Amino acid sequence: MRLILLGPPGAGKGTQAQRIVEKYGIPQLSTGDMLRAAVAAETDVGKRAKAVMDAGKLVSDDIVIAIVSERIDQPDCEKGFILDGFPRTLVQADATEAMLAAKGLDLSVVIELKVNDKELVRRVSGRYSCAQCGSVYHDSDKRPAAEGVCDKCGSTHFKRRPDDNAETMTQRLEVYYKETSPLIGFYYAKGRLKSVDGMADMDVVTGDIEAILGAL
Ligand code: ADP
Ligand code: ADP
Ligand code: ZN
Repeated sequence: MRLILLGPPGAGKGTQAQRIVEKYGIPQLSTGDMLRAAVAAETDVGKRAKAVMDAGKLVSDDIVIAIVSERIDQPDCEKGFILDGFPRTLVQADATEAMLAAKGLDLSVVIELKVNDKELVRRVSGRYSCAQCGSVYHDSDKRPAAEGVCDKCGSTHFKRRPDDNAETMTQRLEVYYKETSPLIGFYYAKGRLKSVDGMADMDVVTGDIEAILGAL
């Protein structure tokens, strides 16, 4: 199973991807996570990407396409994978088609999570994650069961992303509508698109996604 989770920042892609990982045992390929790891490790790519990410703009197509292309060649991607936050431009979408075609692979489905702007700003403004395992939480929607302790790994250290603030979010949304939303038409025309109401509770969204995946 090879699927794409498509949606604006804060739509719930990472949250849902994590649940698909647990149920289906295929890896989540988040270009945002991979780029943040490169920034933290101060690699050449990380050094070039940091300012762009902090400004809420897109890292160049060449860089992200190279990262994904290398990643999907890893053995754990043989059974399939979830693309989270990639592709984000039509150039990246074309590159994805070419990458898969070259390996004789097919895309199973593209799932679009629909959420309105007001809710997206509310979600990213309250988002934080475990500094150790990366589990994602929210100030009001998803708090750890024991206050200040990660449900998954027990760590007591959490962090917030520098780009998860209202101003940068306005820029990220603009970029989404201009550069990424055309992919909705692109995949609809290919008969690959399924849309889900991302405004619903997390568990309801998970159920809707599982229904789509179960019917494949
Ligand atoms: P979100 O989860 O809020 O949608 P991501 O973690 O996917 O955000 O991405 C954070 C930032 O990383 C983006 O604003 C952008 O600068 C960069 N980035 C991530 N994926 C891509 C991509 N496919 N193409 C270009 N830039 C990307
Ligand atoms: P994305 O990867 O699309 O940027 P995330 O999965 O990181 O989005 O979710 C953004 C924030 O919203 C997180 O703090 C998460 O806990 C919260 N969240 C995710 N899905 C929902 C939902 N269905 N309802 C309410 N809050 C949600
Ligand atoms: Zn943790």
